[in-house]
Amino acid sequence: MGKKIHIIITGENSQSRSLVVRKNRMRSAAIAVGVLALVLVASLYVSVSSLLEQHSRQQRVADLESRVDWLSSQNRELLTEVNRYQSEKKALLSNAVNHLNERSSQIEDILHKVGIELPVDESGESSGGPYIEVPVDSPDDALLFSSQLIDIIEQVPLGVPCEGYLSSSFGRRRDPFNGRTAFHSGIDIAHYVGTKVKATASGTVVSCGSVSGYGKMIKISHGDRFTSVFGHLDKIMVKRGEQVARGDVIGTMGNTGRSTGPHLHYEIRDQGRAINPYSLTYLKK
Ligand SMILES: [Zn+2]
Repeated sequence: MGKKIHIIITGENSQSRSLVVRKNRMRSAAIAVGVLALVLVASLYVSVSSLLEQHSRQQRVADLESRVDWLSSQNRELLTEVNRYQSEKKALLSNAVNHLNERSSQIEDILHKVGIELPVDESGESSGGPYIEVPVDSPDDALLFSSQLIDIIEQVPLGVPCEGYLSSSFGRRRDPFNGRTAFHSGIDIAHYVGTKVKATASGTVVSCGSVSGYGKMIKISHGDRFTSVFGHLDKIMVKRGEQVARGDVIGTMGNTGRSTGPHLHYEIRDQGRAINPYSLTYLKK
């Protein structure tokens, strides 16, 4: 094999020309062309890859922007909903407070009508006493006030202590023994000896036994303010210091002491002062 290649080029008018190319130059040229082609292919690949990656990145950014938009819209909707719930909650709470104030005022009115005034806090510090001006706006104050009213009602002697009819009213009257005008510090309820006598509010028995004029008597303290007294009893069924609940049977009607016939002498004292128990008993005259 020679080291040269003869290339014969033939023209249109039968002219021919011979080119002599060395084989090693051909190889070098082929290698150069091959390397160039490789470089071109590599740079084409890099360019295409870069374009594809850029496109993919732009797609991801677009997706993220779209997701952010969706989340923002969701967030706005949730905020609107939260605001709506908060408004509804505020309205419900306000209605509840108004309702509670209304009820408290009704209870206060009833207490006023039966002669029980709520203590006024003269110190100006509402937290110190059971008096809070109504209506109050704060749910806590409204609850506190109603709870204090309930406490007061719990300690107010209410209803009739026994069966019977009103035989003598509270206040000035003619004394049944000597005919002179005297102050009657309670009401008399007449019925049969042995009629059950019940506590009219929860409290503590502070004294019981025979007392001049009252005969067999029970005195119950209902907290700081009210005391109830039951006189002319036949039987005493409680002991001093005993706790009683509203409706508990504490004794029976009798005719003991300064009494002209079987009846219960029933007294209510408000901070020691005798008040007319009639309005608190709902007795028929
Ligand atoms: Zn009496």
